[in-house]
Amino acid sequence: HATKKTMADHLRKYESLFTLTPQRMRMIVEAFKDTLELGLQKHDQVVPMIPTFVFGWPTGKERGDYLAVDLGGTNLRVCLVTLQGEGKFEITQSKYRLSEEQKQEDGQKLFDFCAECLKTFIDSNIKEGTIKEGQELPLGFTFSYPCSQERIDHGQLIRWTKGFGVTNTEGRDVAAMFIESLGKADIPVTLTALINDTTGTLIASHYVNPRTKIAVIFGTGCNAAYMEKMGNVEKSKSLGIKDDAEMAINCEWGAFDSFEHEHLPRTKYDKVVDETSNKPGEQAFEKLISGRYLGEILRLVICELIDEGVLFLGQNTYKLEAPYVFDTAFLSLMESDPTDELLMIIGIFTHFFAVETTLAERQFFRALAMLIGKRAARLSACGIAAIVSKMGYLEEGCSVGADGSLYNKYPGFADRIHEGLIDIFGEKGKNIVTHHAEDGSGVGSAIIAAMTKERK
Ligand code: ADP
Repeated sequence: HATKKTMADHLRKYESLFTLTPQRMRMIVEAFKDTLELGLQKHDQVVPMIPTFVFGWPTGKERGDYLAVDLGGTNLRVCLVTLQGEGKFEITQSKYRLSEEQKQEDGQKLFDFCAECLKTFIDSNIKEGTIKEGQELPLGFTFSYPCSQERIDHGQLIRWTKGFGVTNTEGRDVAAMFIESLGKADIPVTLTALINDTTGTLIASHYVNPRTKIAVIFGTGCNAAYMEKMGNVEKSKSLGIKDDAEMAINCEWGAFDSFEHEHLPRTKYDKVVDETSNKPGEQAFEKLISGRYLGEILRLVICELIDEGVLFLGQNTYKLEAPYVFDTAFLSLMESDPTDELLMIIGIFTHFFAVETTLAERQFFRALAMLIGKRAARLSACGIAAIVSKMGYLEEGCSVGADGSLYNKYPGFADRIHEGLIDIFGEKGKNIVTHHAEDGSGVGSAIIAAMTKERK
């Protein structure tokens, strides 16, 4: 009769499912490049390659006080940014967590909430007299969902991502909706720019480090932006902008391989994540990478092993069986547990899920987290490599500004991206280096507001 499988035996199966070989990565990069090109040629592609109307790099000399509201996937941030020129700035900010209800309610209500938070922020952070009578502070609105834009202070929401299902918003101009909320709350600001967090991070990173050519966000979602020559944006020829002018492109690359699922290695757990999401088929790349989903992927593997009678026999596992209860932050904690006994992992499972674990099981969980986290980082490297290769940045090298909790807090995430780039490009992959873009989206929207003012 068969001997009982150990946790190490089980792990081997998941290793083969979640491991990306260099060869496979290079195939993904090629397909990714073609997809990026297609998005620049034609409208309404899966990866939409959205022109942002942010023209060229900042000079680094931009100055002044700017407000920024940043609607991410998990938090709402409000900040006051003082640009001091010479790549320096000061920032004061407050964070407000969005409830799950707010992510599904009416759109105008959501923007009303953003306006109220801004009002509270102004009341407690802006000294009397800073805003002179009759004067309005410029406001940058970082709205990190795919919008099609015809100018910088306007944007029609194409579709919600990152689990949002807010009603009465898709297809509408979100800048106009927010301006309505600002008016209702009687706030003395002028909305000067609607931007995406990737675009903001791109511009802010370049302000501080001019070697920056690309920006990537690893938060609730995953997306990238870079600077493109208008001559390469076939679909925007009708705008009549000079071929050698540069404009930031918001890739919305989270959508790569959506619907057809031809290029990315999806396991059955990824398919369940997709099918049970509020937008099945969409954001295929993002669903393998971003903070919203990694914990859920790990949870589904655990649930499979519970069903097979491998884990937690005789224990009540209902707490583990609810969707999305396993936060990606737990993967970070598990990977960084410094103790031989893996005490942190004991803590997570007893405290949050009320189950007892053996050491062998804890070692398995940690290894599983590593597989899922590593795959996410290596897939991200594929996306970065596609832009690098398309733009010819490999020889000269460049810096990639990165932000989001996954990048900032997941141990080893950046190193794994760098290893991935070397697997794709060989030694030259070392020429591409990511760095943390501090407060990128807020500072970026301030700089863009300043650049916009100068253009007018
Ligand atoms: P946003 O996407 O709203 O801009 P963040 O960049 O903070 O916000 O990303 C939030 C996502 O990051 C959530 O999905 C959360 O699960 C994940 N997250 C939070 N803390 C950590 C952590 N320590 N390690 C890994 N992921 C984390």
